[in-house]
Amino acid sequence: MKIGCHLSSSGGYLAMAQTAVSIGANVFQFFTRNPRGGAAKPLDLEDVRAFSAYAAENGIGPILAHAPYTLNAAGADERVRAFAEATMLDDLKRLEKTPGALYNFHPGSHVGQGEEAGIELISSMLLRVFDALGGKCETTVLLETMAGKGSEIGGKFAHLRAIIDRTALPLGVCLDTCHVWDAGCDIAEDLDGVLERFDGEIGLERLKAIHLNDSMNVRGARKDRHEKIGKGKIGLDALAGVINHPRLRHLPFYLETPCDLQGYKEEIALLKSLAENA
Ligand code: FE
Ligand code: FE
Ligand code: ZN
Repeated sequence: MKIGCHLSSSGGYLAMAQTAVSIGANVFQFFTRNPRGGAAKPLDLEDVRAFSAYAAENGIGPILAHAPYTLNAAGADERVRAFAEATMLDDLKRLEKTPGALYNFHPGSHVGQGEEAGIELISSMLLRVFDALGGKCETTVLLETMAGKGSEIGGKFAHLRAIIDRTALPLGVCLDTCHVWDAGCDIAEDLDGVLERFDGEIGLERLKAIHLNDSMNVRGARKDRHEKIGKGKIGLDALAGVINHPRLRHLPFYLETPCDLQGYKEEIALLKSLAENA
């Protein structure tokens, strides 16, 4: 089973991998830079080399790089969109040093411009970024399913389908259990039905990662408040169903619950104990 959690990137790649191993994880997620924006620290190639050797030895990966929350490709302000584009391009160039990584981003919020305009802005930005990379990207770029809070794009599977269609790029999807629950998907009582719909609207072959979170809110609340595993409205049985589902169990699971390292260690141990293929 591939399971891990979000980790602080402040100590670099090797430190994250060592932390992952110390809590029983074999994958991890990290922010490519301050989640509230700003410049990334210069890449330490010595650290990248040490990490790559350690990851290979310890069976770590795939790692999941998460774009900053301030990245909004669908913003109304030209400067907001320019920041999004420059940041994604820079992130993907840096990730060329860690081949095989996943890169997840929140599609964006249209801030009143409308879904159609938002989808168009996101799609055109992705095309320009891939173009700037010379059409080749070693990293799999993932659109995250969103809770549909405010004017978020990604609260409906159809939004992601539209971006995939419009770009014709090899994009993947990261399904966040808290987000889809908050967006109204009943992954507790009807996981099969939700996955059927995902398969029909997006295609399950696009699904490359799961953010495994419980939710503080009732289904359909469109709130996006993560809860610890088994302590929220989704519940432990439903999340055990997610990790053991025959169409999901091969995927990497990344916890983004409100936990410290000890809490993550306990959640990972709990989920491994519930996994039928651990
Ligand atoms: Fe996210
Ligand atoms: Fe998430
Ligand atoms: Zn969230």
